Amino acid sequence: MIRIEHIGIAVENMNESIELYEQLLNTPCYKRESVASESVETAFFKVGESKIELLEASDPNSAIAKFIAKKGQGIHHIAYEVENIQAEMKRLEALGFELLNKEPKRGADNKLVCFLHPKTSGGVLVELCQEMV
Ligand code: ZN
Repeated sequence: MIRIEHIGIAVENMNESIELYEQLLNTPCYKRESVASESVETAFFKVGESKIELLEASDPNSAIAKFIAKKGQGIHHIAYEVENIQAEMKRLEALGFELLNKEPKRGADNKLVCFLHPKTSGGVLVELCQEMV
């Protein structure tokens, strides 16, 4: 793993949360993006070498809506940048980590991503991500 690429935070109201995070981090939101395949709206902030990714459900059946219904707003996942996502997926699967998608999929912010089930990663939803070239 290269670094923590971003921390994903589930929010109830994107506009209010962007305002909050702009004040908290003292930096503007530099990108907003819809990810239709996940029924999610995203917004990004730079924090040094890493980012904060805000996630708002765009559909009541989306994973983010279910997460908020169960746990409320807050930290949703930690994303680690990897050099070779296929190799990392293979390595982790061989060690017993459960991959939530068997093939890398297209995520927000020009990334290939794969999620690991929290039950095999100590209660934390983990995202592997690799920059698409
Ligand atoms: Zn993410």
